[in-house]
Amino acid sequence: MLGEGYVPGQVTFGSHADRVVTLTVALLNELTAGQVRGRLVPRLEPAERQARARALLGLPVTARETDGLSRLAVRLRPVFAAVEDEDAARAAAEVNGLLDAYRPLPYLARGDGEAWELHFHSPDGGTEARWGAGCATALAAVIASEAWRRLGVCSAPICDRVFVDLSKNGSRRFCSAACQNRTKAAALRARRRGQAPSGMP
Ligand SMILES: [Zn+2]
Repeated sequence: MLGEGYVPGQVTFGSHADRVVTLTVALLNELTAGQVRGRLVPRLEPAERQARARALLGLPVTARETDGLSRLAVRLRPVFAAVEDEDAARAAAEVNGLLDAYRPLPYLARGDGEAWELHFHSPDGGTEARWGAGCATALAAVIASEAWRRLGVCSAPICDRVFVDLSKNGSRRFCSAACQNRTKAAALRARRRGQAPSGMP
């Protein structure tokens, strides 16, 4: 079922869903510790997390709201990990767990003079619940689509950041240009080493 305006080869989950998937990726990448573009980040300081949450939401957030969003961010990772392993059943089970936890309720909303968009509320009005409902629904839309493999975990060494591949050819492997470049540079160095004259005393 392709909507009007569908461009062959272009991946779209609907412009609103695309936006929410992109925010889901940003939430996970910004609010979780781990391997970050070649650096080990064992933990994020609370003030740093709160500043990042504020930047993501574009609104002031409390320490408690930041904790809630961080909890959600950690719960999102297994979906990306399952897709990276090409395990659709596990990805679906993980998304169902999120849907159970955040119980999104569909409703229509629009800005002044704009087209109607399908949004998802949560019965619990808190920040974590609201974001959880949105993220769970966006991931559900991706996993239920032909393009479910478009979620991924960065292939660069020492990086576990995630991405959604919205490119035409679907060949994305890295979380960022930084990881793509450092992987390319490392491969080049390895090739040069391989070409170094051998048999020298
Ligand atoms: Zn990366």
